[in-house]
Amino acid sequence: MHELDLLGVNHPAPRRRRSTGGLQGQGRAFVTPPIRIGIVGVGKIARDQHLPVLGASADFQLVASASRNATVEGLPGYPSLAEMLDAHPELEAVSLCTPPLGRWELAALALGRGKHVMLEKPPGATLSEVEDLRVLAERGGRALFATWHSRFAPCVEAARSWLAGRRLVSVRIDWREDVRRWHPGQAWIWEPGGLGVFDPGINALSIATRILPEPFFLKEGVLRFPENRATPIAADLLFQDVRGVRIDLGLDWLQTGPQTWAVRVETEDGVLLLSGGGGRLEIDGVVQCEAPEAEYARLYERFARLVRERRSDVDLSPLRHVADAFMLGRRETVAPFED
Ligand code: NAP
Repeated sequence: MHELDLLGVNHPAPRRRRSTGGLQGQGRAFVTPPIRIGIVGVGKIARDQHLPVLGASADFQLVASASRNATVEGLPGYPSLAEMLDAHPELEAVSLCTPPLGRWELAALALGRGKHVMLEKPPGATLSEVEDLRVLAERGGRALFATWHSRFAPCVEAARSWLAGRRLVSVRIDWREDVRRWHPGQAWIWEPGGLGVFDPGINALSIATRILPEPFFLKEGVLRFPENRATPIAADLLFQDVRGVRIDLGLDWLQTGPQTWAVRVETEDGVLLLSGGGGRLEIDGVVQCEAPEAEYARLYERFARLVRERRSDVDLSPLRHVADAFMLGRRETVAPFED
């Protein structure tokens, strides 16, 4: 059995999802055909998450891939998105898993050809280009989903509910991980547009913008750039919410051993700790939620709903905070980084 069979991608016939939607009450059920989708950019996240999840999804039928060099065993593969779209007019949607630089060109092409589009995070290289994609999707009546996978971690919504309406005292966010473990040999991440440590740091911001009850803004920060790289390897940022609550964010890419992805919120009613990137929630040390991650399965469930309803979900707030950090943060040069 080859790799794709193991992933469940290479099914001989599309599976069908039973739905009781429009015919409910008439004693009949109709079958919703899966959405035919192509994947673009076969790299780490495509292999780790997108391919296995699409293989197991009843909402989607994976039809083909497009990647300059890589292919997926058992799946038709093309060196460019344009060639994949030409060869498979039946495609209804594409999922873009390439680095952020160059996403606008891919997404604009797919939307222009009438496809629904799902974007890996961060949704683009600039705020302006993602805003343009949102308009293109709206004009064409297509779904555009700018994903923030960390928001789909199992305990994020519980944290949001607990914090809603509470008075905060302070917030401390730490996203400290080992770049060599999570981004081995990824040259693009160190180039302009690759975001450096903000590539994972934007996940922290996607959670913070979802769970904190008030808007917040950057006040000051330090971005640390290795002397041989164009993007930061560490950052310390100070935000403040509209009530004056202090929010500290520490990002570090040189943490070996246990990895830290944690949000600690002190409130007048107790201390919330969301750890494991959103996989565990404690209030005053008592575990309220702990579950295995299923972020990408939930992302694709949401995308399926957006496609069927012809709606978009494009929230730029995490990317806006990162842009603010590059605009307002002080720059420091630190020791060179070698993979
Ligand atoms: P990756 O391993 O470098 O894979 C991206 C793939 O896109 C490459 O293998 C490459 O395949 C293709 N590609 C197309 N244009 C490219 C270009 N100009 N430069 C480099 N590669 C290009 O990166 P990744 O980790 O999968 O990340 C892709 C996106 O997913 C990023 O936005 C990242 O933030 C996001 N993401 C990553 C992770 C993770 O854990 N790695 C987690 C969540 C989200 P070809 O050479 O065949 O074209």
